[in-house]
Amino acid sequence: MSNNRLIMIVVDALRFDTACTHMGFMQHLVEQKAAARYEVKSEVPSLSRPLYETILTGTPPLVHGIVGNSVVRLSTQESVFHLARRSGKTTAAAAYYWVSELYNHAPFRHGMDRIQLDKEAPIENGVFYFEDHYPDSHLFAEAEWLVTEKQPDFLYIHPMNVDDDGHKFTADSVSYRNRVLKTDGLLALSLPKWIEKGYDIIVTGDHGMTSDGNHGGNTREDRHVPLFVISNKVQPMIHDQFVSQLQMAPLACHLLGVEPSSVMDALNIPGLIN
Ligand SMILES: [Zn+2]
Repeated sequence: MSNNRLIMIVVDALRFDTACTHMGFMQHLVEQKAAARYEVKSEVPSLSRPLYETILTGTPPLVHGIVGNSVVRLSTQESVFHLARRSGKTTAAAAYYWVSELYNHAPFRHGMDRIQLDKEAPIENGVFYFEDHYPDSHLFAEAEWLVTEKQPDFLYIHPMNVDDDGHKFTADSVSYRNRVLKTDGLLALSLPKWIEKGYDIIVTGDHGMTSDGNHGGNTREDRHVPLFVISNKVQPMIHDQFVSQLQMAPLACHLLGVEPSSVMDALNIPGLIN
């Protein structure tokens, strides 16, 4: 029975193929029929800040206007954070500081905005980091604290180390693949506890990573990311059809049991159980 609570984990620069080959725990969940797996094609440009906004609002960059990483301003759209709060649900995030800049305060004030608790803001409880090598292990510990102390209905978790190693060593490197293995290990430690607490889980990426050590373009390496869904509202199997990244926000709304915004596409993902 779903409790309409959701933890959404966006692993920065997690390529679809590397997720399939190097996330053994996530594959275990699929094989045990505890998770569904999809292949998502990201919007373009396949850059972080535009796609954080796309994932959380269901709108493409041309609509939301965050067309590059250097566009530093609050979102003008209704995000999943906004919609959840309007439905009386509580929100939290453990994420890179650009997420705070999109929904809580821009520009980021390093001394003030790193820890934001019990705020009258779209993200009521947020812990935000501002170094790309900030350890994912620490981030997941902060997420665990938010779950335990704040019990949010919607928690957004956003680790950066896969992207950081991808830029430093390229996606075709021991470092990138081993970082994906480590991320999978962190998920293995956390997900069973959160599932036990009644959370539905989404694990996806914002964009991929190329063998040049970058992203932003239109190749499969740039754009194709995984989507794992742990919920009794989806059939737990491998779904072969490509899913649009514009579906992430309506899917999150569906799992949370909140009304999607008027500009989101209708939810149209294979394997939904109504
Ligand atoms: Zn990057």
